Amino acid sequence: MFLPVTPEEVRARGWTALDVILVTGDSYLDSPYVGVAVIGKVLLAAGWRVGVIPQPDLAGGEDIGRLGAPRLFWGVTGGCIDSLVANRTASGRRRRTDDFTAGGINNRRPDRAVIAYANLIRRHFPKTCPIVLGGLEASLRRIAHYDFWSDRVRRSILFDAKADYLVYGMGENTVRELAALLQAGRRPTDLRGLCYAAGEKKDGFLEIPSWEEATANPEAFTRMFLAFYRNQDALTARGLTQRHGDRWLIHNPPAAPLTQREMDEVHDLDFARDAHPCHRRAGVVRALETIRFSIPTHRGCYGECNFCAIAVHEGRTVSSRSEASIIREGARIASRPDFKGYLHDVGGPTANMYGFECERKLVRGACPDRRCLYPEICPRLRPDHGPQRALLQKLAALPGVKQAVVASGIRCDLLLADGKQGLPYLRDVVHRHVSGRLKVAPEHAAAPILRLMGKPDIESLLSFRDHFRRFTAQTGKRQFLSCYFIAAHPGCSQDDIEGLRLFLRQELPATAWQVQIFTPAPATISTLMYYTERNPFSGRRLFVEKTVSGRERQKQILVEKNIPFRYAGENNRTAATEGKPWARTKGPRRKPRRNPPRR
Ligand code: SF4
Repeated sequence: MFLPVTPEEVRARGWTALDVILVTGDSYLDSPYVGVAVIGKVLLAAGWRVGVIPQPDLAGGEDIGRLGAPRLFWGVTGGCIDSLVANRTASGRRRRTDDFTAGGINNRRPDRAVIAYANLIRRHFPKTCPIVLGGLEASLRRIAHYDFWSDRVRRSILFDAKADYLVYGMGENTVRELAALLQAGRRPTDLRGLCYAAGEKKDGFLEIPSWEEATANPEAFTRMFLAFYRNQDALTARGLTQRHGDRWLIHNPPAAPLTQREMDEVHDLDFARDAHPCHRRAGVVRALETIRFSIPTHRGCYGECNFCAIAVHEGRTVSSRSEASIIREGARIASRPDFKGYLHDVGGPTANMYGFECERKLVRGACPDRRCLYPEICPRLRPDHGPQRALLQKLAALPGVKQAVVASGIRCDLLLADGKQGLPYLRDVVHRHVSGRLKVAPEHAAAPILRLMGKPDIESLLSFRDHFRRFTAQTGKRQFLSCYFIAAHPGCSQDDIEGLRLFLRQELPATAWQVQIFTPAPATISTLMYYTERNPFSGRRLFVEKTVSGRERQKQILVEKNIPFRYAGENNRTAATEGKPWARTKGPRRKPRRNPPRR
């Protein structure tokens, strides 16, 4: 059942007022994949009366005022994606389409939606209850951060939005406790997973370089970001405090990841798996095609690719649901009259992280000084694809299910590290759980760029490819690997992209690939590299392609067939790289030009 979006729907539930109103930059999709629906349903289950205002019009007070003011708090989110990533391409152009807006036209979500909606509320309800920011946009912008679109270091979004609190990360437990504390008339200042502004710093919290220092000095920005990044584990993180002018941002330590029981409870809530009927006239919401009949099996990722913000938002600890809970969800989906027999995705941020975690991490927290998968897989991780194999088999055997597809990306090195169940899992997936294409994300082929990305070397992809081909040949079906690559990542010169092109031609000639231009989203290590033009770990200067034309050129080199080859590395083969010049790690290369001036 949907949460109410109109006064009539509020009355139909027998309510005379609301405790919480959630405002979102997406159309209202009632799905376990959508934060606003999950938080709304969690609060509803805790006994609070919750309404939703999707994509309010900024021009007047009619939309934002239609449910009146809530009793406890307003919850504001930009939607499932940061509004600037949703609205702008990596080259800064406005996107015309929006998968999270009914009708698909990108005309409903403002840039910096969180700030716009918070200001809208303040304008029309000057003396209202607390405004609480949440969702990805707020989470990634919770401390001072580099903003690619304005090319400057911005304050914490809490200050720009003039909001009272910011809930970051996976917020179910934090918002539930927040509602209880506000109901009791208490300030939630010790609540985990919460940021707020204060007149003075908090005792015992780690003071990180101020917004002013981070703005003036890239070296201070690096120290600020790394202190923030290293304090994200619920078991080990310290609280952080950061001065902004004469005020302080107080960043409480993160909330604990949901336990399996809590994850199951969230997914046992009643989701309509549809867009609210108020959007019907505008048209379909394209994102629903992907998520309506998909099942999230876990959260979090310990891959820590440097360009990805999942570790900062969802955490490095993977929380998996129980098999029974996932099967129940599969059965509920299969019983729907509109279900055609295909579970479109059974997965998570990385499909094959389901069902196992490092025992040490669960007891003592993620290691602050090493990564779980890079530069090689930590021996304490012990990957086990057995639980996923069993799960997929059981889902596929449910009445009404023709196929349970794995459409989330698979991490090749993790699969190959599981000597017992890894290849049987891949065989199962290739034989029964692929709908034509299997996604993997090598992102590049040149070893120096892969190191900057925090990705494994390309040999694991090639080995995975060989197994994939072998298993595909057994099926007699036409199936492909679909590979994702990033152009213009910090450190990547035109020569590196030419090398990647050669790699694609030599090694993946019959493979589909997709190329994205690197987008410096807030709160990633790659964005830190982009901004400072240095490797934050070695301190060495990096070439960073910052011109729009240079960034687009790198993509064109990969996707357009008739650009002539200009690979300097061709003449610089060494014995070690003979036959695979894209693997060159040393040796002469065309000197990259100096970093161009800022746009
Ligand atoms: S011991 Fe290894 S797998 Fe466990 S948290 Fe540390 S780096 Fe990750």
